[in-house]
Amino acid sequence: MTFAATVLTLYPEMFPGPLGVSLAGRAMREGKWAMDAVQIRDFAIDKHKTVDDTPAGGGAGMVLRVDVLAKAVDHALEAHPGCPVIAMTPRGKPLTQARVRELAEGPGVIVLCGRFEGFDERIFEGRAVEEVSVGDIVLSGGECAALMLLDACIRLLPGVMGAPSSGHEESFENGLLEYPHYTRPAEWEGRAIPEVLRSGDHAKIAEWRKRRSEDDTRLRRPDLWERHNGARVQSASGAQREVQDD
Ligand code: SAH
Repeated sequence: MTFAATVLTLYPEMFPGPLGVSLAGRAMREGKWAMDAVQIRDFAIDKHKTVDDTPAGGGAGMVLRVDVLAKAVDHALEAHPGCPVIAMTPRGKPLTQARVRELAEGPGVIVLCGRFEGFDERIFEGRAVEEVSVGDIVLSGGECAALMLLDACIRLLPGVMGAPSSGHEESFENGLLEYPHYTRPAEWEGRAIPEVLRSGDHAKIAEWRKRRSEDDTRLRRPDLWERHNGARVQSASGAQREVQDD
């Protein structure tokens, strides 16, 4: 099945952009995913093809019109009924690897890219549009955020990445950061690769990697570590309850 990416944007020429090269580009040429970049301006209602207007209540910048956005979303949904619609916005729910994995297992995604001050809020009330953020930063438009989201999905599609197992040990897949990597030369500017990684003892290597993954997550991302531990405590007490019920 081909994963169908539809991007609604004022700058369709930005796509596929970086997704046209390397693994994603090859996968696209092999038909594992397809891309349709749709010009939002084509859904403008007036003869001047206006897509934005001044913010109600005053203030700087321009806001994307809800009537134009709705027409663009409806058009995309007609071609891909039931496809999730995601708007890129710093006000959205932070994107996670878990959500990316769900999307990659589905039929595709319709991505709405904002510009200027963003979207008229009523689009989220009038249509089933999920608001997603790619981080606590402000971009000038949703296109780079859309490329990030699509890149993360595409690399998970069957047959896109070389080794099928390599996606599963990655950072965030188990709620932790991945352990650090090393390769030749064995020594560089007086720095050696950790001895254990050259020992050939697979059990010891696995243990070292697990410990580094946990230590690094605890030190670098206390937020992830807390969530990971919370999940562990919860599943342990869940398991306990099951035993008691028996
Ligand atoms: N006024 C808005 C920012 C608009 S930035 C605010 O303060 O919330 C213009 C567009 O860039 C947004 O509509 C959105 O599509 C995109 N964008 C900016 N930052 C983003 C982020 N962190 N995640 C996803 N999209 C983002």
